[in-house]
Amino acid sequence: MGKTKGFAAQSASAPLAAWEFDRREIGARDVSVDISYAGICHSDIHQVREEWGPAKFPMVPGHEIMGTVAAVGKDVTEFKVGEPVGVGVYVDSCRKCENCQSGESHQCLEGMTQTYNDFARDGKTLNFGGYSKNIVVDADYVMRVPANLDPTGVAPLLCAGITVYSPLRHWGAGPGKNVAVMGLGGLGHMAVKFAAAMGANVTVLSHSDSKKADALALGAHAFVNTHDEAALGALTKTQDIIINTVSADVDIDRFLKLLKLNGTLVIVGLPGKPAPINAGSLLEMRRSLAGSMIGSIKETQEMLDFCGKHNIVSDVEVIDADYINKAYDRVVNSDVRYRFVIDTVTI
Ligand code: NAP
Ligand code: ZN
Ligand code: ZN
Repeated sequence: MGKTKGFAAQSASAPLAAWEFDRREIGARDVSVDISYAGICHSDIHQVREEWGPAKFPMVPGHEIMGTVAAVGKDVTEFKVGEPVGVGVYVDSCRKCENCQSGESHQCLEGMTQTYNDFARDGKTLNFGGYSKNIVVDADYVMRVPANLDPTGVAPLLCAGITVYSPLRHWGAGPGKNVAVMGLGGLGHMAVKFAAAMGANVTVLSHSDSKKADALALGAHAFVNTHDEAALGALTKTQDIIINTVSADVDIDRFLKLLKLNGTLVIVGLPGKPAPINAGSLLEMRRSLAGSMIGSIKETQEMLDFCGKHNIVSDVEVIDADYINKAYDRVVNSDVRYRFVIDTVTI
């Protein structure tokens, strides 16, 4: 493949800047993808800033990748040059363990190989992500994008989308179910779109009053400002499923109380610090507290097909690459409606 251009952080304290690096040659089972758009996930920021612990630099973040097939290896029959495709949070796994074999390779027992901030399976080649012009990925970890979807809004589906689609499906969101979404950011706005499309009754729990009109326009049936104790209290014992997408520390007990009998609060937001929980909040109403991490390649393809059918994409603000550092600050300030997407022409 040779040299490609990207945007990289050279350390946790350095701003992201233009950087040239090598992509591997296309192997027999590889797909070379020309990247059109790369989403900015809050996880990119957590990792660049080492909020999840020591990271690997230089770091080219980006695990929400929308592009087109530029070339395929000799043993790839399932993708054709020019086809729209996506790449998400992981690009390999052991393929042999129980979870890989059962189609849950994102929960690989040896650990999935992440798209960036991780070594390839050889344990020494550093992977570089989607804030770049192109990427080479094994065909088994590339997904097909329905042709009817607006490509500008597709990239965020590959992480934000699947991360909320998977628990909504797993915990049975649908008609007759009350679903609350904590935090209306990249993940949260996709959760609202999906839960509404699945037929659930959706409530947004947000600390930003200015997002009320958007929440309702996205498909929510109700909006509660989490600073409003009385409004939050009125939801006590009403919700079947709560998806917590908040990127900062929250008092989980306050929200567990909103679950009805046998309800589940699923944590997908990952601020990186432990949070205390009162056991009493779980005992009452036989509540469950769960976590969920992205979704498998198989389920991500299912989610993309669901998006194709329902014409769902992310609401995005398309930016030039030299705006990335500013965009990071705006994401941290909950000031994004609802995902920044880098136009890679500007890299
Ligand atoms: P985001 O766009 O920044 O959205 C996070 C939302 O959380 C904000 O829009 C805001 O919503 C709320 N929030 C932020 N700071 C807050 C504070 N101090 N107090 C209360 N609410 C606050 O982030 P994202 O990209 O959606 O990611 C959300 C989290 O999920 C991140 O921690 C990310 O690392 C994690 N994540 C996990 C997975 C997984 O596999 N589980 C995958 C992707 C991302 P309001 O303004 O509406 O309150
Ligand atoms: Zn992500
Ligand atoms: Zn495995």
